[in-house]
Amino acid sequence: MTYARIIVDIAHSQVDRLFDYCLPESLLSLTPGTRVEVPFGRSVTEGFIMELSDTTDVPAQKLKSVRRALEERPALLPQLVETAQWMRRQYHCLLVDALRCMVPAEMRGERVREKQIKQAYLAVSPEEAGAAMAALKRAPRQSAALNALLAHPDGIPVCELSAQSGATAAALKELEKKGYLRLEEMRLNRRPAAAKGVIRDEAFSPSDDQRTAIKAVNAAMEQEQPKPFLIHGVTGCGKTEVYMQCAAQALARGRGVMILVPEIALTPQMVQRFTARFGDEAAVLHSRLSAGERYDEWCRIRSGQARVVVGARSAVFAPLAHIGLVVIDEEHEQSYRSEHAPRYDAIEVAAHRCAQENAVLVLASATPSVERYWRANMGEYTLLSMPRRIGSAVLPFVHVVDMRRELKEGNRGVLSRPLVENLETCLSRGEQAILLLNRRGHSSFVSCRECGEVIRCDLCDVSMTYHKAGNMLRCHYCHEEKPVPTVCPYCGSPYIRYFGDGTQKLQEELAQRFPHVSVSRMDADTTAGKDSHLQILERFRRGEDRILVGTQMIAKGLDFPNVTLVGIIAVDSMLFLPDYRSAERAFQLMEQVAGRAGRGSKPGRVVLQTYSPDHFAVKCAQSHDYQAFFDQEITQRRATQYPPFGRILRAVVSSEDEDEAREDAQEIYRRLTREMQDAPDMEASVLFFDVTPAPVARLRAQFRYQVVLKVRADENARKMEDLLFNAMRDLAGSSHAVLETDPSAML
Ligand code: ADP
Ligand code: ZN
Ligand code: ZN
Repeated sequence: MTYARIIVDIAHSQVDRLFDYCLPESLLSLTPGTRVEVPFGRSVTEGFIMELSDTTDVPAQKLKSVRRALEERPALLPQLVETAQWMRRQYHCLLVDALRCMVPAEMRGERVREKQIKQAYLAVSPEEAGAAMAALKRAPRQSAALNALLAHPDGIPVCELSAQSGATAAALKELEKKGYLRLEEMRLNRRPAAAKGVIRDEAFSPSDDQRTAIKAVNAAMEQEQPKPFLIHGVTGCGKTEVYMQCAAQALARGRGVMILVPEIALTPQMVQRFTARFGDEAAVLHSRLSAGERYDEWCRIRSGQARVVVGARSAVFAPLAHIGLVVIDEEHEQSYRSEHAPRYDAIEVAAHRCAQENAVLVLASATPSVERYWRANMGEYTLLSMPRRIGSAVLPFVHVVDMRRELKEGNRGVLSRPLVENLETCLSRGEQAILLLNRRGHSSFVSCRECGEVIRCDLCDVSMTYHKAGNMLRCHYCHEEKPVPTVCPYCGSPYIRYFGDGTQKLQEELAQRFPHVSVSRMDADTTAGKDSHLQILERFRRGEDRILVGTQMIAKGLDFPNVTLVGIIAVDSMLFLPDYRSAERAFQLMEQVAGRAGRGSKPGRVVLQTYSPDHFAVKCAQSHDYQAFFDQEITQRRATQYPPFGRILRAVVSSEDEDEAREDAQEIYRRLTREMQDAPDMEASVLFFDVTPAPVARLRAQFRYQVVLKVRADENARKMEDLLFNAMRDLAGSSHAVLETDPSAML
């Protein structure tokens, strides 16, 4: 008898283990990684076969049988089954949560299907068809259909055949009956809009920097367990071209390629570049695809039709076999880490998959994360430098404007005078501008002039954001909305006012100053629609819009040669966030968005408006000096023992009942204290250890407490993480506890 060990597709810690089932005769060919339907309790559920075995400890009368397979070919490659098991250990997540990452959500519960179309073929030789056409003079539609079939030797979808020839269904049926036409059911691949109708291109002849990088990566592809690379390349140095040429090399060796980019950088432009180079060999995976598109792209990868995967974070789980190369573009981006269960880091998962297959991992950025640049300095990665832009393009000149002075001299607007002047020049030359504003909405928040209270969300302990459209307040954490109150809910005063400058306000100021210039806006509000992102960018590319205003979204990867001016409106607010990476993130954003200017033959210019012109992150961005920024930042990290020198571990405990949240957090703290007393050598690694209310003490109607640890980044760090995780289990109360490591924002 063969038994299948199965993980049921139910996310609950109590069923997070293997269940044994009998494998009936008809299903003996199934292998691990296949999804099946099984009886479970009183119902039927889906599950993943993890192992096969000849034995079981389950008594025969209790054993149930697998009912059917949900697919012919296992959804999961063996490497991904192993990766899921590794994720459970690495991220303390449920195995099923890890497995769920690896199949398109729509496949579960069979909510998506293949799309079939009827394809028509000529069933006779062209000569016979010609003779038939002559004989069919009395049936012009049939004759026209034959003519169209002659023009499409590889077949043509029936609907197109009718449209082209005017042949009715009856006419086609007649042709089929006579044996001239053959119909076949064919699977239609739903491709993402950006990948359709792209014209193929050829590789560029590489620059010296590019050639060095390509050579190094190719050489590594021959090695066993190759050392990863960190490419530090300024914006516009031609990194993408390097990825594409290395990818071509991997394909030539018969190996698969994965290119990961941040979700918001996965622009239609990026997709088009890869499609132009690799045609249907490229597949795209990201969250804005329709269910059908995502499923079809996934199937093309699984079947081996597409061997170059371009995708966002979750594409790291693509069913790509025999990987040779994984590229992580903009490796410094926070979005590679998942913020909800399973809380994985796509770069770590990528490294794991590379190790499984002796594949080369390439991390790249114009502004590498401080932690990885430090590790490259320590010899963990091979550092490749690409300090020059392609061709004659140079890095843009950065003009820093002190906004305090602007205010002193009477300018209360969002736009500084130098920015207005530069915009005038830019527009008068027929060029285009991009303006970055690090917030969205019209005004950030609404407050009372008498008591100073800010209008907060009823469910969360955070201020709500004003949105001019609909005159609404919205909570960006729970999406709760309410109308702007006419009197202060705290003191009853009628003097309510709006604070802060948002994209909408900026847009209004631009409309006032440049009434004849068309401005478009790109932020989370305007890109909610499926292809709205593509449409906004296409309008801008065609020059219909002269100014593009947006949030972080516009900072990444856009390549418009006619953009010569970039305005950075308000990044200062980022410098002072309660996050040890705030300076790093502000520097990265300034540098990235500056990189959008002057990418063509015309030189670019950046106007950086700031209230803190003396901050080192601003100064380094002004001189495009990553090294200087890194040196100063790493000195501070060492002094404060923040990553990479220390690690932050945080347990967030939340509950609707405040007492329960507090008591459970205190219980975690007590358990961990006891554990540490038993291991005195661990204690020496602890730099900070406390239990307090979380900075956002209430979120989505849940009260929140936290246990925070800062530990040295030594051998004990991992053990400490495991101890904390153990201390969080089986809490007495009904609260929910989540473990975060090096969280980017301590809400
Ligand atoms: P990055 O990804 O580093 O920002 P890109 O790969 O987008 O840079 O390259 C910038 C521009 O230079 C693109 O328009 C690209 O087509 C072009 N380019 C890249 N490599 C070459 C080359 N070797 N010769 C000519 N043009 C190139
Ligand atoms: Zn809220
Ligand atoms: Zn008030």
